[in-house]
Amino acid sequence: MELFDLTIHELHDKLKKKEVSSVEATGAMLARIEATEARVNAFITVTATEALQAAAAADRRIAAGEMDILTGIPLALKDIFLTKGVKTTCGSKILADFIPPYDATSWLKLQERGAVLLGKLNQDEFAMGSSCEGSAYGATRNPWNLECIPGGSSGGSAAAIAARQATATLGTDTGGSIRQPASHCGCVGLKPTYGRVSRYGVIAYASSLDQVGPLTRDVTDAAIMLGAVAGHDPLDSTSVDRPVPDYTAGLRSDVKGMKIGLPKEYFIDGLDEDVKKALDLAIDAYRGLGAEFVELALPHTDYAVAAYYLIATAEASSNLARYDGVRFGHRTADAKGLADMYRQSRAEGFGAEVKRRIMLGTYALSSGYYDAYYLKAQKVRTLIMQDFLKAFEKVDVILTPVAPTPAFKIGEKTADPLQMYLSDIFTIPVNLAGTCAISVPAGMSRAGLPIGLQLIGKPFGEESIIRAAYAFEQASTWHQLQAEL
Ligand code: GLN
Repeated sequence: MELFDLTIHELHDKLKKKEVSSVEATGAMLARIEATEARVNAFITVTATEALQAAAAADRRIAAGEMDILTGIPLALKDIFLTKGVKTTCGSKILADFIPPYDATSWLKLQERGAVLLGKLNQDEFAMGSSCEGSAYGATRNPWNLECIPGGSSGGSAAAIAARQATATLGTDTGGSIRQPASHCGCVGLKPTYGRVSRYGVIAYASSLDQVGPLTRDVTDAAIMLGAVAGHDPLDSTSVDRPVPDYTAGLRSDVKGMKIGLPKEYFIDGLDEDVKKALDLAIDAYRGLGAEFVELALPHTDYAVAAYYLIATAEASSNLARYDGVRFGHRTADAKGLADMYRQSRAEGFGAEVKRRIMLGTYALSSGYYDAYYLKAQKVRTLIMQDFLKAFEKVDVILTPVAPTPAFKIGEKTADPLQMYLSDIFTIPVNLAGTCAISVPAGMSRAGLPIGLQLIGKPFGEESIIRAAYAFEQASTWHQLQAEL
C-alpha cells in the first residue's frame, strides 16, 4: 500500500501513530498527481506550495496533540467551491481568472479541522453535464479506461479518487453529479438531503436542487466527510437547523430485518446487462445479510427527466444572469455600448451546453409559457416527492441502479444532448424529491468498468443509507479494486 492508496481513516491512524507526517502524505499525493495527471486531467488547479504549507501546519497541530480525524488529510475540491485566494473557474472560461475573496462554508469547516487542499477539480461547466466533457479545461478521463468518460459533472472529483490523486474529495449533485461519476469510477459518492449541507460559497446551478457531498474510497470516509460538512449555516437560509448525528456510529450495525424497496420503474428492459447482473448479485448479497425486499412502484418516475430539465434550466438561467461582464469574470475587449458588452461577454465566456440551458430556461420562464412549463414541472415534482414519501412508509431504503450503463466512450454522446440527459434517469428523481442517496461500488462490467448501486434514503435518513452501504461494502470486495494507472 502506498500513501496515496489510503483512506481517510487509514491515513489518520498512521498520522496519529506518527508513522507518517502530513507533509509526507501530501508530498506523496502531489507526486502521484504529477505522475498521472497528464493522462487523467482531473485537476484544473494544483496548489502544491500551499498544500505543503498547510500540511506542515497540520503536523504542528498533530505534534501539539490537537488532532482531529481530518487533520493533515490531503483533499481536493470540485472547482465549484469558492476557495479564498485560489482560482475558482466552475469549469468555465467566463471565470477563468476569478479569485474568490472568501471560502465556501463546507471548505471552511474542513480547513478548520486541519484538512489540506491539494487543488481544484475538473467538472462540466457550471455543473451542467454527465461526462465532464463540458469543461472549458478539457475532458477528464476515466482512470479505469482512459478512452471513457469519468461521469459528470463532478468527474474530476471521482477520477481523482480512482487515480489516487486525493484521499477524498467534495462534489456537488443537482441531478446525479456526485453519484453517477462515483459509480463510473468505482468510488463511494453521497448526495445528502437538501438542506443538510450548507451551499454558501458554492457556485449556484439550480438552487432548489443543488447539494454538496463527498466522494471517497469507502463508506466510512463518506460518513466522516458528511459529518464534517453537515449542519446549519446562518449564511445559507436553505440549510436546516437540525442536529448532525455521528454518521460513523452506524458503521457497525448490520442490515438484518432492514426493509429494502425495489422500484419496478428502475429495473427496465433497457438496463445494461452488466448493470443488471451486478444489481441482481447485490440483492442476493443483501438477502444473505438478512435484509427483506419489498417491490415498490414510483409511478411518476417517467416524468422526472422532463421535469428536471425544465426546473434546472429555469433556475440556471436566473442564477447565471449574474455573469454579466461587470461583477464577475470575463469582460469582452471590444463592445459597442452596454447591452453589447453584456451580450459579447456572455457569448465569449459561456460554452455551448451552458448557452443551451440558459436558452431553454429563459424560454420556460417567459410570460405565457411559465404556467405550461415551469409551474407544471413543479407540480410533477410534488408528485414524484409524494411517490417517495409513500414508498418510505413501507421500506427503510430503496435500492436502484445509479446509471443505466457503465461509463461510455469520450465523444459518444456529445452530439446528442438528449442521450446525455438520459444518463441521469435514475439519479434525478432523488434531487427532485430532495432526499438523500449514496452510490457504492457493486460490480465490474465485462469491459472492466466499475458499476455502482444506489441506495436512496428518507429525507434526513443518511444514517440508514450509510448503514446499508457499509453492510454491503463489508460483504464485498469491489471497493478494494484499483484502476491500473
Ligand atoms: N447531468 C445533470 C445535468 O446536467 C446533473 C448535473 C448535476 O448534478 N450537477 O443537469
